[in-house]
Amino acid sequence: MQKQLREIEERVLEKLKSASALEELNDIRVRFLGKKGELTGVLRGMGALSSEERPVIGQLANDIRARVESELDKRMGEVKAMARNASLSREVIDVTLPGTVFDAGGLHPLTTVARQIEDIFTGLGFSVAEGPEIELDYYNFEALNLPKDHPARDMQDTFFFGPEMLLRTHTSPVQVRTMERTAPAVPVKIIAPGKVYRRDDDATHSPMFHQVEGLLVDRRVTLGDLKGVLEAFVGQMFGPKTRTRFRPSFFPFTEPSAEVDISCGMCGGKGCRVCSHTGWLEILGCGIVHPRVLEMSGYDPEEVTGFAFGMGVERVALLKYDIDDMRLLFDNDMRFLEQF
Ligand SMILES: [Zn+2]
Repeated sequence: MQKQLREIEERVLEKLKSASALEELNDIRVRFLGKKGELTGVLRGMGALSSEERPVIGQLANDIRARVESELDKRMGEVKAMARNASLSREVIDVTLPGTVFDAGGLHPLTTVARQIEDIFTGLGFSVAEGPEIELDYYNFEALNLPKDHPARDMQDTFFFGPEMLLRTHTSPVQVRTMERTAPAVPVKIIAPGKVYRRDDDATHSPMFHQVEGLLVDRRVTLGDLKGVLEAFVGQMFGPKTRTRFRPSFFPFTEPSAEVDISCGMCGGKGCRVCSHTGWLEILGCGIVHPRVLEMSGYDPEEVTGFAFGMGVERVALLKYDIDDMRLLFDNDMRFLEQF
């Protein structure tokens, strides 16, 4: 019987060494140590042994069981570790592979320029005012000294919805609405940025474009104040070396009126293709608010005066970035936009 037990032990340990899967090890456990296993089967025959032989065989059987169990546990651990390593090597990450590149968005050059303009004027104490894009004829024209038969209306031919409603041609109606709300109190010190619409479409005009207008109404506001504010703006927007020039002009809502030119940044004023060899670039229109406009909005022109100015954001962007076709700003071609 001892020989039989030794033989079983040898066979089990041999099998354990070659087993490489958990299922195999479990099979071995059941086949040798289980209730119907080989070892158990041999021990059942112990009844036939003499009382001297019985403890010796019993001891041997227990030793064998313990050795097999400990070897089995050891192999279990080894096989599990092997399985873990195998799955780790399957999931290995190759850190030399190129990563996924996420494109970070950027601001449209028009947005950048509009925000710069707003920043400069809010820095000078102006606050931002807004109003409707679909406007009444009264606020867009009449309250700005442009009665229905006024020839200057042709300069701002626009899109009408019936006789009284239209897409605003400038953000001046925001000035009127703000004055109506504030009068007779002073000061009014606002800029009005926003979309405006005109029947124009070529390399330097778009049927929709953006304007920033400014208005200051207070006691004793002069043309000198207007020049000071605009020169401060131009210096911050185009650099401190940029010079300004005021040329007499006409707008129905200001008197006197002026166009403001800045010295050409490309040639420094000597004359080049960009400035049509004049050395100057037109940037905005401005003037002293017409007494009739103040009056219609609830102010006494004997008590207060004001200045107003207006510029196209696209025009400023074209000059600042030296772009020669306004339509590029609206095409949304990434090859163009990624340059900013
Ligand atoms: Zn030039």
